[in-house]
Amino acid sequence: MSFQEVFQLLYDGIEMSLSYFINPKKRIYLLYLGSSTLLAYYIYYRSNKSTSFLNYIFHKKIWCSTSSYIDYILIFFNSFIKLLFIAPFLIYGFYLAFHTHEFLLNHFGYPSESLTVFQTLLFYTIALTLLNDFASFLTHYLMHKIPFLWEFHKVHHSATTLNPMTQYRLHPIELCINNIRGIVIFGITTGFFDYLSKHQIDKLTFLGVNVFSFIFLFFGANLRHSHVPFKYPTFLEYIFISPFQHQIHHSNAPIHYNKNMGAKFALWDWLFGTLVLSKSVKKLSFGLGEDDKHFNTFLKNMYQPFVGAFRAVFNRRD
Ligand SMILES: [Zn+2]
Ligand SMILES: [Zn+2]
Repeated sequence: MSFQEVFQLLYDGIEMSLSYFINPKKRIYLLYLGSSTLLAYYIYYRSNKSTSFLNYIFHKKIWCSTSSYIDYILIFFNSFIKLLFIAPFLIYGFYLAFHTHEFLLNHFGYPSESLTVFQTLLFYTIALTLLNDFASFLTHYLMHKIPFLWEFHKVHHSATTLNPMTQYRLHPIELCINNIRGIVIFGITTGFFDYLSKHQIDKLTFLGVNVFSFIFLFFGANLRHSHVPFKYPTFLEYIFISPFQHQIHHSNAPIHYNKNMGAKFALWDWLFGTLVLSKSVKKLSFGLGEDDKHFNTFLKNMYQPFVGAFRAVFNRRD
């Protein structure tokens, strides 16, 4: 790599990280941060706190903690990982869509009744939302249950304070697993609906902002990684994961381990018996408990999972 290429990579990485704030597909898009702030104000207003709103929401202990600094570094670091190791493979989603469409066409021919453009977009959006969410629940579930994978997922749980950037606090190995999952689900679902619509739709129309994602992101998704206890009415928490339910997922109390692993939907947790409702929990503290000391720097978060995974595979405790 020449000096110029290194410089270009550095520039692209920083640009990519900062572009998250102006990208409607990203959770920390300024509009979603704004709507989350309004919801946080509602919680603040109802809780009769003696401190000012600004002090409540931008508390130094949270935004300037060592844990938060690691989040900020990781958002940049993972942008480079994305540029180098993930971006070149995103095209495989389209290859997979193409081959899924070809496979179905060659084996079954086009169906006599095809979906209209409107029906395709409607059902495609619903299917993609549900399949993506179930797949992310399943990978998340496996990361908690399989000791080898848990070591990498620990990085997300090693956050002892939560802020919206904690969403991106992932070990690069987990980042790669999540992206492979996304590519596979996107490719197969897109190919399937392209087939059902008799290849009428330009695949690029499939890439617009999904209306369900928009609703999820607009209504407080950023509060999931925060200290603001935003809860939904109990009946709704059986269907959708509220921000507070995700905070329970980050709890360092053993009773909350491996609970509320859903992304948007709580349904999967309900089905798998891992659902915890907000009303049953009073106070929370975050992190890994005893293990926090092994994850209190950026570098430890990078190499410790490999040490842990080696031990998990070879069953060594020393
Ligand atoms: Zn988790
Ligand atoms: Zn989280």
